[in-house]
Formats: sequence, C-alpha cells, structure tokens
Amino acid sequence: MPLPCPSCTEPAAEHTLPGHHGTTVIIDICRRCQAIWFDGHESLRLSPGGTLQLFRLIGEAAASAPQPAVATLRCPRCSLRLRPVEDRQRTTRFRYHRCPQGHGRLITFYDFLREKDFIRPLSADQIAQLRAHVQTINCSNCGAPVDLAHESRCGHCRSPLSMLDLGHATALVEQLRASEAPKAVDPALPLELLRARLDAAQAFDRLATADAWYVDVPSEGLLGAGLRALARWIARL
Ligand SMILES: [Zn+2]
Ligand SMILES: [Zn+2]
Ligand SMILES: [Zn+2]
Repeated sequence: MPLPCPSCTEPAAEHTLPGHHGTTVIIDICRRCQAIWFDGHESLRLSPGGTLQLFRLIGEAAASAPQPAVATLRCPRCSLRLRPVEDRQRTTRFRYHRCPQGHGRLITFYDFLREKDFIRPLSADQIAQLRAHVQTINCSNCGAPVDLAHESRCGHCRSPLSMLDLGHATALVEQLRASEAPKAVDPALPLELLRARLDAAQAFDRLATADAWYVDVPSEGLLGAGLRALARWIARL
C-alpha cells in the first residue's frame, strides 16, 4: 500500500534505495508536491549510491513548480499533525516537518538539496540576466509566482531566488561515486573520472553561459532547469 502524501494526500510513489551495510531504505516521493517522506531516520541510512539514485529521482520528478503545501500536514502513519523544524547544515538553513511520534519526516526537494548544500542564491548579475528574459518564475521553495520586475525574492515565503550549484553538485556526486566504487584498482578509472569532470564542466557551462542558462527556466523553473541538467549528467555516469 503506497503511503498518502502528507500534503496533498494522493498516493506517493514508493522507491527502494540501497542503504548502508547491504540494507535497503524505502522512501516515498510525491511528484506534485515535490516532497520526500523518510520513514524514521532513513535519510541518514542511505548509502552514497542510494543518495546518487535519489538525486536522479529528484531530477526526473522536478516539474515546473511544486504544488504549494497545505496548511496542516499530517503523518501518513498516525495522522498527527507534523511539526515544522528549522535546521542548519554549515551556514545553510533548511526546513522539514516531522511526526511528533517519530514516524518520519517530510522534506521538499528544495530543502533536501539545501540540506545537502546544493543550492545557492542567484548573484545580482544572474538576476539581472533573468529579468531581461523572463517576467515571472515560480518560487523553488513554495511555488508562489515571483514577479521579476519588482521582486528578487519570493514575496510569499521570503526565499531568495536560488538555483542548483551545479559545480558543487557534480563535485559531490563524483565524491559519492568514488566512495561507492569497488576497491580494486581499475586502470580505466582515471580516464573515466577525467571524462566525468569534462562532462560536468560542459553541463555547468551550458547552464552558466549568458545565452543558455535561463533558456529552460520558463518551462522547468530555476531549480528544475538545474536538476534536469544534473539528472542528464548522472544518467551518463
Ligand atoms: Zn503531495
Ligand atoms: Zn506519525
Ligand atoms: Zn516562496
């Protein structure tokens, strides 16, 4: 039985991912709300390979904008009201909601990526570029429309306009991948790593160069455009 999404109550999609020490971790993803339900403390038990797979799932599921969360989120196991939690990963703040009985936690894609330190606010130059080509975008955090002519942060939830830090993301993915790799020495590996690094640089260039990075933004959203690029890159690993 799929669990209902704590926000929209539609059935969430269950995924089984590799955890530490040969275990498996079951997570539930709601594409409409762009949110992940972790039972108990399951996000802590994902293996590096499991984390990679989750990034890929997020990239594939990221639509143009998440559906705004409802006011009262309920635990899919006990129906109690989920409590908001503010947390911090180095200097990055992120939020999630947890069940008071410890059944698990609900985190949006956006906050999950913040937790993993993958999101950075747009620079003033990037905002100016975006403003020249796009009028309205949807907030990556809450889905509310942001009128770029008058605002440079979301008027609803106050989040700054942010996107995936693709350079950092690809570096971390490479690290995760290296830690997952078999210990035996593979003579082809340095070449492969070099190729992955070149691919990452190209994906980043495509997103970062003046005439390309905002092209996918109207259809995919800021975060979606970055996530799609990352998913394409991971798919080739
Ligand atoms: Zn939902
Ligand atoms: Zn509960
Ligand atoms: Zn917002």
